[in-house]
Amino acid sequence: MGFRLSCIRCGKHFDNRKNPIRCPSCGGQALIEYDYDQLSSIISREELAKTPSSMWKYSFLMPLMKDDFIISLGEGGTFLQKAERLGEELGIKNLYLKNETVNPTGSFLDRGVAIEATEAKSMGYRALKCVSRGNLGASVAAYAAKAGLSCRIYTTLGVELGKLYQAVVCGAEINFVKTYDDALKFLENPCEGEYTVSVTNPFFLEGIKTTGYEVCEQLHWSPPEFFVVPVGEGGHLSMIWKALRELSYVGLIDGVHSRLLGVQAKSCSPIVEAFRKNLDKPAKPKDFGMTFHDIAVRQPMLGELCLKALRESNGYALAISENKILEATRLLAKCEGIFAEPAAASTIAALRVALEDGIIERSDKVVCIITGAGLKDPAAVKSLIKHSAAETPIAFMLASSLDSRLGRTKRLILKILQKHPSHGYLLWKTLTQKFGLAITLPSMYQHLQELLAAGLITVVNEGSPSERKKKVYVLTKKGETILSSDFTT
Ligand SMILES: [Zn+2]
Repeated sequence: MGFRLSCIRCGKHFDNRKNPIRCPSCGGQALIEYDYDQLSSIISREELAKTPSSMWKYSFLMPLMKDDFIISLGEGGTFLQKAERLGEELGIKNLYLKNETVNPTGSFLDRGVAIEATEAKSMGYRALKCVSRGNLGASVAAYAAKAGLSCRIYTTLGVELGKLYQAVVCGAEINFVKTYDDALKFLENPCEGEYTVSVTNPFFLEGIKTTGYEVCEQLHWSPPEFFVVPVGEGGHLSMIWKALRELSYVGLIDGVHSRLLGVQAKSCSPIVEAFRKNLDKPAKPKDFGMTFHDIAVRQPMLGELCLKALRESNGYALAISENKILEATRLLAKCEGIFAEPAAASTIAALRVALEDGIIERSDKVVCIITGAGLKDPAAVKSLIKHSAAETPIAFMLASSLDSRLGRTKRLILKILQKHPSHGYLLWKTLTQKFGLAITLPSMYQHLQELLAAGLITVVNEGSPSERKKKVYVLTKKGETILSSDFTT
């Protein structure tokens, strides 16, 4: 089936599979279009009902060539769970969860990466590369392995560890850079034979839109009043909107009546801000606080498209506090048995707010997209345990088993601080000069950040208010306990 690239800004069509992301005339984001009239005459609900559940059953609405050999790990075709217990808790009867945590590498991104890996393999590329905050790298590494391609990932030191482990085990080469923006520069000039997987690539986007198709078919072609979707780069929400429109073009649903609710974490919510101010694109990035990586995107690459989808659907956007998101993560697991990563469970926290504020009616049919699995984010797991049952022996055991996996450098830092509190620079001099450790100052600060996040050290400010204050690092009680129970040295 034929397809063509089309610019979302100027509407021009173009054909450049090697460089499909931006419109050659105006630089706008490109998306893929099909001949919907022709498709509507050959597709029917009855025919689709005969094919088993899988994202590839909608291949007539995918950019595949006839002779493409599909690279698949069994992505898509995920369960749509009727959430009776959680619904009761929140006060809504018709609540469904699209459980994307069961995808091969535990996130919805597998849908997009499967199409890009297929495209790369069929066009004769030898390697995949990408920039990743976590989930994307894990997915690209797995599909590269399956396709027999090599894989190179650019990421930052703050990457969530569970996601990094996945990529490393699948044989990817990991390159650490200082900031995410630095990492993006490595994508600009690809080497010969290297295919760049990007969340803005129209082929990738065609993969993640299939979540929308599946939900509609699973609800017997009667789409919900609301889709609640976590928003990072903005691609998934935008593409669910595209999916709904396409289903209506080909006559599988009767018009598009669903609305979209986009969710971001309060400390990093450029799309919610732009939506409130009625802007076409997210405002210039500012410094945001610490939050969950996969929805904490300072400069969402698909912000414009996402805001367009929110408006066209008469939708809404909500920013939710980190604490509320962690609470929702626990509630989702307790009521429905789905252990999601916080970014994914943010939809549940947002639903609660939307019901209380009357944005969503209690009689509405609602689908929350649960985008990724919980075990990928050990830091969040740790804070969940800390907040849930801090007094029980099992919580203590789990917390210390997570903490006892300290590296040599962190142990050494704790030991130095046990003897005497120290400024950052002095600590670095002790590490490098006294202990002969080859460590840069930024990477020592990264260790300090992680120790702070784990609650093993704390910071006090030294000096009177009139002087320039100096940060002094001090071992906490928890740090003492961990150090005394750490027998790995
Ligand atoms: Zn254009």
